Amino acid sequence: MDTDVVIAGAGPTGLMLACELRLAGVDVTVVEKLAERTGESRAGGIHSRTLEVLDQRGILDRFLAVGELQPVGHFSGLYLEFDESESRHPYPLMILQSDIERLLQEWAAELGVRVRRSAEVSGIRRDAAGVTVELRTAQARPATLRAPWLVGCDGGRSTVRKLAGIDFPGTEATMTALIGDVELPDLPEDYVWVRRTPGGDYSAIAFEPGWHRVITSEFDRGADREEPVTFERLRESLTRVAGTDFGMRNPRWVSRFNDAARQAARYRDGRVLLAGDAAHIHFPAGGQGLNMGVQDAVNLGWKLAAVVRGRAPESLLDSYHAERHPVGERVLHNTRAQSALVRPGPQTDALREVFGSLMVFDDVNRYLRHMLNALDIRYPVDSDHVLAGRRVPDAGLKTADGATRVHELLHAARPVLLDLRGGTGPTAVARGWADRVDLVEARAEDDHWPVPALGEIPAPAALLVRPDGHVAWAADAGAAPDTAGLRTALTTWFGPALRG
Ligand SMILES: Cc1cc2nc3c(=O)[nH]c(=O)nc-3n(C[C@H](O)[C@H](O)[C@H](O)COP(=O)(O)OP(=O)(O)OC[C@H]3O[C@@H](n4cnc5c(N)ncnc54)[C@H](O)[C@@H]3O)c2cc1C
Repeated sequence: MDTDVVIAGAGPTGLMLACELRLAGVDVTVVEKLAERTGESRAGGIHSRTLEVLDQRGILDRFLAVGELQPVGHFSGLYLEFDESESRHPYPLMILQSDIERLLQEWAAELGVRVRRSAEVSGIRRDAAGVTVELRTAQARPATLRAPWLVGCDGGRSTVRKLAGIDFPGTEATMTALIGDVELPDLPEDYVWVRRTPGGDYSAIAFEPGWHRVITSEFDRGADREEPVTFERLRESLTRVAGTDFGMRNPRWVSRFNDAARQAARYRDGRVLLAGDAAHIHFPAGGQGLNMGVQDAVNLGWKLAAVVRGRAPESLLDSYHAERHPVGERVLHNTRAQSALVRPGPQTDALREVFGSLMVFDDVNRYLRHMLNALDIRYPVDSDHVLAGRRVPDAGLKTADGATRVHELLHAARPVLLDLRGGTGPTAVARGWADRVDLVEARAEDDHWPVPALGEIPAPAALLVRPDGHVAWAADAGAAPDTAGLRTALTTWFGPALRG
């Protein structure tokens, strides 16, 4: 074998997955068809849960230094408020995808990830032991790489998905949106947000002084998908929708997107897996795609690493589909709803007004912001505790070595058994897994922890946290901990104990 895992695609998903695998000591090779990063600005933000995920790995400061925190989020252009108690990072961070990719690539380089550029996956051959990946490169003869595992992080038109014969069912586009980073000298305001007109809608957001991101949406124009995108097309579209081009000039980047929504039928097919846009595409409303790809990577990374290192059976990888496919399905669903809410016409005007008035209610606003920020995800983990399967709150802790936080304990991407009641039962049980599970004794700073979708719950007595920050098992104070359940959870997620 040439490497443990080949990742196709050095976008945000592929880079994040590569880093997760390297943190677990896995040899990984990323192959990327482009000779260098495009520098295309694309996605414009990171949500709460992704900010938490970056914090879990100790690299959040790099992103906060470049981006700008926003006071509100949105659902189809209708504002979502935030609540400081729900996350340490309750706001979206405005940061361009080009910066996100640059920062991830720098981190990948520090971790020793090999990125082979100008290498396009063009074929795969599979057998019981691995996958031979055929690469189109600058050399005359095709190259190959052989590995036990291949992960397609190669975007919405994924070659890996097609070569693996994985279906991509979903719904067709009903609209076309054009997007460009341009100068708009005649725009009377700094910021135009989903302004709806009879022809569609447009937005213009001042990302940095001197230039705007302009987006136009026109409906029932799905047939234009293959037409080349040019600055002139964007100017014509803005003029049709807004009645003027606001003096548009100096394009840095133009592109298009639509509301087609498709999802891979299987995220795993034997030794081939899919993550990010390769597994799901949708209307980019609410900016969820990159976030979901990064979170796919963080769900898959530690599982694939455990299988590569012989610590867990291959069946652990099936939990990747079981956990992430429903998350993708829900995002496709909410983006279809957001697409319906921006269509022109008096019926949608009325629907939007009704929906907007509902969003004023705290419960509605909270429900939607938890959904868009992926704070309420609960994986189907086999345990009765209310926290089981949910993302662990980033509670303050006191340890013998000083103050820390739960998310800080996850920097090494290793599981953590956190004993908050003076370590007897749970810690003793988990000692059998001490080679791969960190055992931490601490006191919780607060008696109650806020949990999105649940409200405040009493701080638990002990927790088993997976490397992705989701709770695998928990015990409450005042009752004997279910140590048999803990043993089962440790074995299910991290393999058999070293002894006993
Ligand atoms: C206008 C717009 C705005 C958006 N805004 C947001 C936002 O605010 N927030 C958000 O979360 N998301 C947003 N998104 C979505 C986001 O851009 C994507 O979800 C994200 O880029 C997906 O990352 P990825 O790594 O899965 O795929 P990609 O970014 O598509 O990366 C795939 C990589 O694979 C490479 N590749 C392709 N084929 C091959 C091959 N055969 N061999 C080797 N390499 C290959 C490509 O060159 C590319 O580098 C937006 C999208 C658009 C279009």
